[in-house]
Amino acid sequence: MRRRSRTRRILKWVGLVVCILLAAVWLGSLRWNVYVRFADGRAFSINDGGIATSTVKYSQLRVGVEVHRSGSAFPCHWWPHRVFAVLRDGGRETTTWWPIWPFFLAFAIPTAFLCHRDRRPPKGHCQNCGYDLTGNVSGLCPECGEPT
Ligand SMILES: [Zn+2]
Repeated sequence: MRRRSRTRRILKWVGLVVCILLAAVWLGSLRWNVYVRFADGRAFSINDGGIATSTVKYSQLRVGVEVHRSGSAFPCHWWPHRVFAVLRDGGRETTTWWPIWPFFLAFAIPTAFLCHRDRRPPKGHCQNCGYDLTGNVSGLCPECGEPT
């Protein structure tokens, strides 16, 4: 007996939505760069295929959210890496980059697995348990009792 589980169906849809969101963020990051700067010098950004956390020192940069058009046409952040930069006003910025694609894969692989397992059984098989009903005349699945 095998019933399609409700939890698995929910997980599958959540996984699908997260995958779509991550793909959208990745694509969007190639076009627009988003920066969020906090008063304590920490910053968070999404750009060119990566997400980053940074700390800024000795700088008078404005605090808040900024969105710029991306300067590069291709994703730059394929691998985790760290960048030290000197800002226009002499401030120092240390940025740690995390590529987005591994997060996408981390959701896409289990979601694909769930989708694969939850396929409807092919025609001629019990739609509940997948039992092969070839030659069945009773109208009931001999495995689980589901009407055919
Ligand atoms: Zn069945």
